[in-house]
Amino acid sequence: MNLILLFDDDFIDAQRVRLGGRRAAYVQAVHRAAVGDRLRVGRLNGRVGTGVVTALGENELLMEEIVLDRDPPPPAPATLLLALPRPKGLRRVVQGVAAMGLKRIVLINSWRVEKSFWASPALAAAALREQLLLGLEQGADTVLPTVDLRPRFKPFVEDEAPALIEGSRALLAHPPATLACPHAVPGAVTLAIGPEGGFIPYEVELLCAHGFEAVSLGSRPLRVEHAVPALLGRILG
Ligand code: SAH
Repeated sequence: MNLILLFDDDFIDAQRVRLGGRRAAYVQAVHRAAVGDRLRVGRLNGRVGTGVVTALGENELLMEEIVLDRDPPPPAPATLLLALPRPKGLRRVVQGVAAMGLKRIVLINSWRVEKSFWASPALAAAALREQLLLGLEQGADTVLPTVDLRPRFKPFVEDEAPALIEGSRALLAHPPATLACPHAVPGAVTLAIGPEGGFIPYEVELLCAHGFEAVSLGSRPLRVEHAVPALLGRILG
């Protein structure tokens, strides 16, 4: 937690907050904060700054002198289209890309996505939000990304993708592609990532017919959790 996220409900007044639960426990156990310490804070969807710890209790943390005097970091100019991974991978990827500063994630279907994944509790709005908040705290950011669910591949690609990728370079990550993944792409990027088994040829063709370029990081297929940060690190430069 490189920044403590503050929510409207935490504020006692403009300069004082009271935190409970996970954040209070974490600040005590991991930060090993003491009364008088100045910690980095940020208001959800707002500005970042600092606050001073004035009381630490069993399950409670009070901070005063809250000053929010800086903007959060600029967003990473990339949108992720992700074939729905298994729940464990999903949590990791959502948290990781939130930490990297992406602001839009679209979870899409694909032939090789197991149907049961769409019924996972990991897809509930509250569960996704929890991972996004952990990612924001890691990346010292405050701006909550959006996660959209698109359980039908063809209508998504044909009807929505063209508008979604407009103004961006649309890349489809595909190990066998002959084009190497570009480095430090200027401007905005939309990156499509396949399921563990990869996109099937029909899906690659449909995406390519709708403005995507297939790119590769080399012939070694990586797990989705590793492919996403490797690709984004390269693309964002
Ligand atoms: N079995 C599949 C690999 C799937 S890996 C195959 O051999 O094609 C899961 C997803 O991660 C892929 O669909 C792709 O989007 C991304 N990915 C993994 N390794 C990659 C690589 N070396 N280059 C580009 N994309 C990769």
